[in-house]
Amino acid sequence: MMNRYKSRNIESAGKKLQAERETEKSGIAKNQVVTTVIEDMSENGEGIGKVDGYTLFVKDAVVGDRAEVKIVKAKKSYGYARLVKLLTPSPDRAVPVCPAAAPCGGCQLQAMSYEAQLRFKENKVKNHLERIGGFTDVQVLPIIGMEDPLHYRNKAQFPVSRDKDGNIRTGFYAGRTHSVIETPHCYIGHPVNDRILALVKAYMEREGIRPYDENLHKGLVRHILIRRAAATGQIMVCLIINGRKLPAADKLVRSLSEVEGMTTVGFNVNRERTNVILGEKTVILYGPGYITDRIGALSFRISPQSFFQVNPVQTEKLYEKALEFADLKGEETVWDLYCGIGTISLFLAGKAKQVYGVEIVPQAIENARENAELNRIENASFFVGKAEEVLPEWYERQCGKARQDKAKNENGEKEVCECRDGKTCADVIIVDPPRKGCDQKLLDTIVRIKPERLVYVSCNSATLARDLNYLCREGFVLEKVQPVDMFAMTVGVECVALLTFIE
Ligand code: SAH
Repeated sequence: MMNRYKSRNIESAGKKLQAERETEKSGIAKNQVVTTVIEDMSENGEGIGKVDGYTLFVKDAVVGDRAEVKIVKAKKSYGYARLVKLLTPSPDRAVPVCPAAAPCGGCQLQAMSYEAQLRFKENKVKNHLERIGGFTDVQVLPIIGMEDPLHYRNKAQFPVSRDKDGNIRTGFYAGRTHSVIETPHCYIGHPVNDRILALVKAYMEREGIRPYDENLHKGLVRHILIRRAAATGQIMVCLIINGRKLPAADKLVRSLSEVEGMTTVGFNVNRERTNVILGEKTVILYGPGYITDRIGALSFRISPQSFFQVNPVQTEKLYEKALEFADLKGEETVWDLYCGIGTISLFLAGKAKQVYGVEIVPQAIENARENAELNRIENASFFVGKAEEVLPEWYERQCGKARQDKAKNENGEKEVCECRDGKTCADVIIVDPPRKGCDQKLLDTIVRIKPERLVYVSCNSATLARDLNYLCREGFVLEKVQPVDMFAMTVGVECVALLTFIE
């Protein structure tokens, strides 16, 4: 006991000493209040100001603000601060519509006018392309914004917890924490969410069902997932639970089915100690287990585990861009990697000879196949698996052997993929990976295939820039990048990039 006490004391003395040393160097210390002008924005949406050359990251500050800020953490060359008093507000400021905008971690940019948000995102993309990708003169097209940047999301995942008085709380996580902030109404979600949350809460209270406590790994309900198809109004509710059964499930179904558009109710089992929201198993209590939405002229079935773009208004614009960049004439073989429920694949199928989609989530591929049928599309096939495994295997089987033989025989022959029938195995490749970007093995295979066009759809411009850098070192040319605002009020930005490979 004594030892532990001592070592903790030494540790905290060490920390104090370090803090003092850092203060000596910078002259800035925790709790100090300083005045600064915000000159830039970090990619997480914090304002960046300087005090005598010392950099401060200021939460809720906007470029152009002059403000008094209080240091919350001081490091050697930079620190974090919070806004104390706004001395001169930036012309880019807007009054956040949501009263919980500052504490809630969901929207980081509500204090900025929408125009300024769009400029911020365009700059973020340019910065990533330049700093990470090494592209100095790439054509970044003006970002495609929204007409009405509120209430756009078709999906919400509300964490459920308890407050100090034991009441059930649903809302969102506060920035960088796991404490739940009760938001009476989320301004980027659909208003019907409020009613659904109230009904689920009432059901939990009536039936004595406890929210999940992630510290104790006890309690039942972890999250409430709500999806609403914008075009059809169909709604799906799925409770993510730390258990195998949902007590009095029929009562939940009865109460939720009163909500207009309620199409599917179910629960998903997640008994792990994890931040990942969904577990493997989903049980459907009511309805067909999916909702149907439309993008453009196509219909899509979406089940709880499948990915579907969260902003339907912008998704259509995003896919139109992908289609435009793919520039299909009708004779092409197209691969859509990371295809989800086959949205991009089916969007492109009408203009291609054949489309192949690859996706890791089996339920999504099930949806993709149903969606092809639903839309009477016959030239799209789908594979379950990792993009970085399926495409290389297929390539080796179809083309690799023939290409290698050819390279061996004809010295100096360019390494161009040629199938046995003399046609390239992929004229156009589309990738749309999750935030971490493409797997290296996939990029290597794409480089070997050398499709005429590669359309890279990305929700993370940092990993996009990293992957583009590699592809361009290996012979691709980055033609243009189109940012699209899919995540208004937040720091997220979507991009479509076009690369070509010219012999
Ligand atoms: N293009 C789709 C989905 C994009 S989201 C759309 O616009 O709706 C990215 C998708 O990649 C998700 O569906 C995710 O399940 C899938 N995924 C993640 N890792 C993967 C991998 N290694 N191989 C294939 N798919 C993967």
